Amino acid sequence: MTAEVINGKDLAQELRMNMKEEVTKLKQKGIHPHLTVVLIGDNPASKSYVKGKEKAAAEVGISSSLIELPASTSEEELLNLIHKLNDDITVNGILVQLPLPKHISEQKVIDTINPDKDVDGFHPINVGKMMLGEDTFLPCTPYGIITMLKSRSIDIEGKHAVIIGRSNIVGKPVGQLLLNENATVTYCHSRTTNLKEYTSKADILIVAIGRPNVITADDIKEGAVVIDVGINRLETGKLTGDVDFDSAVEKASYITPVPKGVGPMTIAMLLENTIKAAKGLENR
Ligand code: NAD
Repeated sequence: MTAEVINGKDLAQELRMNMKEEVTKLKQKGIHPHLTVVLIGDNPASKSYVKGKEKAAAEVGISSSLIELPASTSEEELLNLIHKLNDDITVNGILVQLPLPKHISEQKVIDTINPDKDVDGFHPINVGKMMLGEDTFLPCTPYGIITMLKSRSIDIEGKHAVIIGRSNIVGKPVGQLLLNENATVTYCHSRTTNLKEYTSKADILIVAIGRPNVITADDIKEGAVVIDVGINRLETGKLTGDVDFDSAVEKASYITPVPKGVGPMTIAMLLENTIKAAKGLENR
């Protein structure tokens, strides 16, 4: 079997076109979605992610502003800035680009963002709502993954979904969203013994480790849906996922590539969340 490749770049583009129409309509009603991004320090990967987010926002008509602060910014200064942004009615979405310098507590920063402006979906209130299956801002990468599955009408209900990775931003929430969709969910992580025993039983395999080519065709079930979240830059400069695409594509039914897979979907979902924030939580 050769898998159908789910191209996240094309799907994200399609979603952005729809969002553009929605934003135009919102503007006619006097609602102007605005995203504020805070970038601390000069991590090149973070800079490039932020650029991608600004560009995508502009494409759909969402205005954005970037606040760049030096790595020496204190936690107190950052928290004060967030309070200001929370109070600023022209700001609908606040995104603090992670990772932060070591002297700043990421959790404190996330906790300080007004949950109604938390377009990353990381605030404990929004995480809790997601767990309860309530309408809320879903974390962008997991939300993007579910959107990719739904775009191909892939059955989730009753399927065995195996997640490799248990981070707060990818692994844990994607498992929760799949559970909300009635999948049977297994989490694997760095302490899992005999990983293959689990991966080979997965109908849907989500790989979010951050190490190149850990999963090969040998590890997956014939016809599995394989979602590769990993982004790894090889010494050659080439970007690659956590899955050995060339072998897995011959055995899976659907597979996502890297690049042009989950990455562009993550940004598209951030824009969805910003529009949702602008519309207001009460009249979404
Ligand atoms: P993380 O480092 O926080 O978590 C990695 C997880 O992998 C951990 O839970 C760990 O237990 C598990 N793990 C590590 N080695 C393992 C092994 N050998 N076997 C099984 N499990 C193992 O990373 P993260 O933030 O969840 O990101 C994971 C990857 O996804 C990274 O490559 C990151 O760059 C990428 N990512 C991509 C997007 C996107 O939009 N495409 C978004 C976020 C993260």
